[in-house]
Amino acid sequence: MASRIKVKNPIVEIDGDEMTRIMWAWVKEYLIIPYLDVNLEYYDLSIQKREETKDEITLQSAKAIAKHGVGVKCATITPDKERVKEFGLSQMWKSPNGTIRAYLDGTIFREPIICKNIHPFIRTWKKPIIIGRHAYGDEYKATEFTVPGPGTVDLVYKPDDGSKPVTLEVHKFKGPGVVLGMHNLDSSIRSFAQSCLAYALQQKVDLWFSAKQTILKQYDTMFMNIFQEEVDKHKAEMKEAGITYWYTLIDNTVAQIIKHEGGILWACKNRDGDVQSDMIASGFGSLGLMKSVLVSPDGKIETEAAHGTVTRHYRLYQQGKKTSSNPSAIIFAWTGGIKRRGQLDRTQDVVDFANVLEDATIQTIESGSVTSDLARLIYNTPTPPEDSYINTEEFIQAVASRLRDTL
Ligand code: NAP
Ligand code: MG
Repeated sequence: MASRIKVKNPIVEIDGDEMTRIMWAWVKEYLIIPYLDVNLEYYDLSIQKREETKDEITLQSAKAIAKHGVGVKCATITPDKERVKEFGLSQMWKSPNGTIRAYLDGTIFREPIICKNIHPFIRTWKKPIIIGRHAYGDEYKATEFTVPGPGTVDLVYKPDDGSKPVTLEVHKFKGPGVVLGMHNLDSSIRSFAQSCLAYALQQKVDLWFSAKQTILKQYDTMFMNIFQEEVDKHKAEMKEAGITYWYTLIDNTVAQIIKHEGGILWACKNRDGDVQSDMIASGFGSLGLMKSVLVSPDGKIETEAAHGTVTRHYRLYQQGKKTSSNPSAIIFAWTGGIKRRGQLDRTQDVVDFANVLEDATIQTIESGSVTSDLARLIYNTPTPPEDSYINTEEFIQAVASRLRDTL
């Protein structure tokens, strides 16, 4: 074997559950370890380990990312009632992604992998459209009230310093109705804006932010102003990276996105991001080609696949059957982390390796060696012919062989 490329600083490796845990191990064994001499600080976030450590392991992994700056993560089970029963859990442990995101005060960006033979449903989309979703407040931390009949609803602010309260009338109800109180925080909006800028600068893509300040004259104007303040602080870096910032109304953005070729980061408020990220993901085609990255305001990152643990395929695997699950987004979770490590360490050979592995994966798909999810898209049927796709291990071997040839 040729000598392996030395990676200067550690990468935090976070293992997970089910089919993705299986694919994770294969990707590491065939595509990473033979080529990189890397110190992987390993955290096992399998549901069993989280139970055993009372979920302490999740927090430890988040702290490790904060320390080293780069983490790569496998998908993990977020327990519900059925999972508690299945694994005999002592508690319905919280979503690991939620815990890590809260610790790093980060924003999640979702981005599709583009291949020539996988056509987005929207003809104009040629480059990725990345969605950054604010993950705090608004409708997701709201107080609601069902108004039973005639009466007045007020909004009251009582300052902690004992000064005079402020009361605003929301509505004088003449009959039954419903009311909602929601909030956000300067600090959270600012972290969100900073994470979006950090990611746009890393990826060298234009940044769009959309809201509806014509209707929410104080609420959305607050978002708009904080974004502008952060952009103003980074003017020089943005110029150097050749990227621009554009604020526009959400309805206008939606209209523009459909006609746009992509290659932008679209920052969305919480609910807009929830809705639009599903639209963008479906518009591009497959979950198996969707990347996800968590970015903290100071540029620390955790990369992963956007999909879950692919339980349905894992049930087949448990029966000893071969599955045709797509490991592409998992490969890109590794390359995304490796690339960032190389950037931070200023080791171009490490960055180059990540790019070569990404190219090998895309070329494998473009040569027609695909897993069943992509065969469905290429043949435009839920049941593509059996000889139109290969199984997961064959796919990884095909990528490995291309990678060997290039290196
Ligand atoms: P999922 O794992 O994303 O899978 C849903 C379906 O999407 C699969 O059954 C499969 O469709 C298709 N799919 C997803 N990834 C694929 C891939 N790589 N290759 C081929 N097909 C793929 O979602 P889920 O089944 O709803 O959730 C399973 C578990 O994952 C849950 O316990 C959930 O808590 C967890 N989860 C974790 C994360 C995370 O850690 N980031 C995110 C979401 C969900 P077909 O069945 O049609 O083949
Ligand atoms: Mg959603």
